[in-house]
Order: sequence, then structure tokens, then C-alpha cells
Amino acid sequence: MRKPLVAANWKMNGSREFAERFFTDLNLEGVTSGVVVCPPFPYLSLVAQEAEEKGGFAVGGQDLSQEPSGAFTGEISASMLLDSGARYVIVGHSERRSFYSETSELVAKKFFAAQAAGLIPILCIGETLEEREQGRTLEVVATQMQAVSEVIDTDAWKRAVVAYEPVWAIGTGKTATPEEAQSVHEFIRAQLGQVGDEVQILYGGSVKSANASALFAQADIDGALVGGASLDAKEFAAICRAA
Ligand code: PGA
Repeated sequence: MRKPLVAANWKMNGSREFAERFFTDLNLEGVTSGVVVCPPFPYLSLVAQEAEEKGGFAVGGQDLSQEPSGAFTGEISASMLLDSGARYVIVGHSERRSFYSETSELVAKKFFAAQAAGLIPILCIGETLEEREQGRTLEVVATQMQAVSEVIDTDAWKRAVVAYEPVWAIGTGKTATPEEAQSVHEFIRAQLGQVGDEVQILYGGSVKSANASALFAQADIDGALVGGASLDAKEFAAICRAA
């Protein structure tokens, strides 16, 4: 059986004060799913410290370099994330793909680098509105997954999480209906072949406590990657409780 997982993606939000208040307010009583919090890099150690003291959640980075070390100004390596207390790392978020021109090939290298260091990559995939309207949703997610499949063994998918995030649903308040999301999740699981049953596939895009239960009730939706709603400790805990 797959354990549900809910991950918070704070994006470029917050401050030291915000983070401290968040964990004071975060009440994970009654939560049985796995929980991951992905803060901006400067707060990783602080969040890792909270995770150690409070328990009940793990820490993740929001991105990483595909390189192990060297002259790459501004970059953060997988081993640095591990060192700071992270166990997970988001790779290929649509904001990285669109604002920073990350190709599927680069995302695959980051995925590989994360696993090589012992981190669990949370691979984000998903179509734009234009691609959906052209009926290309499945082709787009299959191509994004294929780029990763080309650099790893099939078994390596078991040490990864996939997050299906339709780009048109991120930060827009528009969520895919549970049925729309389920049909893509089912397709993604089928793409994973024999290891499909063992891989957590999260949904992302305007998830909040009001729509979480209906999404999590779907057979192939194993949890969520939460952006905006993860900045509110009460709201985030309510989503975790629904999983
Ligand atoms: P959102 O973001 O929940 O604010 O739509 C999700 C994400 O980008 O991971």
C-alpha cells in the first residue's frame, strides 16, 4: 500500500519570523500521511531543526544543481541539501521550466543527481492550458517522464515521487476536477509499468482544504504538492489531515 504524502512548497515566500510562527502554529495531530516542508534555501536548517524537535514531517529543497560541486555561482548541490537536513527535493517545477528555461533533459539530470546523493526527488510534470486545449496532455506528461526514464533504471522510480501539476491550475484558483486529475494520474501510473503501484503520485495546483478530500478520494491520487495554501499552518494541517 502506498502511504499518502503531502508536501508544502513555500516557493520564494516567508522569512525567519514567518517560519518560526508557522511551526508554532502547525498542529499535525491526527495526521497519518507523510508530510514534507520545502522552504527557501536559507531556511532549510531552521526547518530541519524544527523537524527534529517537533517530528511528524521531513524537509525538502525546492531545486538543486545537476552538478556535484565546483564553479557554479549561486547553485546548491544535492549533498548541500542533505547536509542541511533535507530528505526530498522538488525537481522540474513548472516555474523552473518556464521562468528559468529548464528543459526536460536538465530536469532529468537534476533528478539523477538528487538520487545519486540519496535525496528523494519530487518530479513535477504537467501541461499548459494551451497544450490541454490541443488535447496534448498525455503526450506532454509522457514526454516529461520519458526524459527521466532515459537516465535512470526502472527501479529508481521507487525512490522518487511524481507530482502531476497542470500548469493552468497552479496559483490560479482553478483546480482540475478530481476526475480530470484521476485520469492523468492513472495514465502516469501506467507509464511507470511494473513499479507503478509503488510510486506516490501527488496532485498539485490550487489544492486547499476545501477540495483536498475529493482529490484524495481518487484511486491514483496519493497526496498533494501544495503552494499557496501551505503558507497557512492551519490550512496546511487540514490538507494533511484529509490525506
Ligand atoms: P498552488 O501551487 O498550490 O499555489 O497552486 C502548487 C505548486 O506550484 O506546487
